[in-house]
Amino acid sequence: MADNFREKSGKKVTLVAVLANCFLTVFNIAVGMIAGSSALVSEGAHTLSDIITTVIAYIGFKYSQKPADDDHPLGYARAEAISGLFIVLFLVVISWEIIEKASKQVLFNQFSAPHMSVAAMAVVGIFINIIVSRYMIKVGKEIKSPAIIADGYHQKSDVFTSIAIVIGVFFSNIGHPVFDSIIAIVIGLLIFKTAVEIFISNVNYIIGKLPSKELIENIRNIANSVPNVQDTKNILVDYMGYSTIIILEIELDERMILEESHKVCSEVHERIIREIPEVKHVSVKASPVKISGAENI
Ligand SMILES: [Zn+2]
Repeated sequence: MADNFREKSGKKVTLVAVLANCFLTVFNIAVGMIAGSSALVSEGAHTLSDIITTVIAYIGFKYSQKPADDDHPLGYARAEAISGLFIVLFLVVISWEIIEKASKQVLFNQFSAPHMSVAAMAVVGIFINIIVSRYMIKVGKEIKSPAIIADGYHQKSDVFTSIAIVIGVFFSNIGHPVFDSIIAIVIGLLIFKTAVEIFISNVNYIIGKLPSKELIENIRNIANSVPNVQDTKNILVDYMGYSTIIILEIELDERMILEESHKVCSEVHERIIREIPEVKHVSVKASPVKISGAENI
């Protein structure tokens, strides 16, 4: 798939998500304030945090695509993970603000039942989240972007906060007005949970955790499929998403001449880069082995 198409689709889907969440933020906060719902105002802060998350992720994505230079010989791939840590900081602040405010309302009995228009706004939010998340997941799968797929699933999970608001309005209006503030606290906790998840995945990414054990098996199978490779060992993967680096050792017949073994190493290099798109560098070391029965030849 052409990088150009990938970038264009990534840009388009980001724009759709940002516009949908801008719409939701404006109306959630406006309706929430007019109709007196802490839960809906909190949801407005949440959709605002979604916009900022998407924008920061996109800036990180763009920066990480910068080509390598003299000072950064491996490129800028990890910039994306660092942008993820800024998002965490931001989400923790928002969740704290929401939880603190709503907890005070519960503790000091400062709550009242919100108007039914809050439920109507939440239903609009449910529909927008379903449509946008489906689109994001579809495009994310097409262009194989884990960041966009993850963002799409996050958008999908936002449907539940909107459903919670509808339930809160219902219970608030049948004599339990505290429910609106309780739902606001739940939304605050959900934002905190998202922050923790983003923190863990980005720290793993910076440390260089493997995305899956199958990656190593896949590399071994590709290398072993090259004619004359007896086996592949000591596979090291420095996982950096879009520009992953692999170091490995292949076993070759000890009698093989240098020119021939160089050809095999080059073929292993080519095949891995061709078959695993995120791999940008492969270092192949050849080690000699005795082939059983070879001494009789
Ligand atoms: Zn969200």
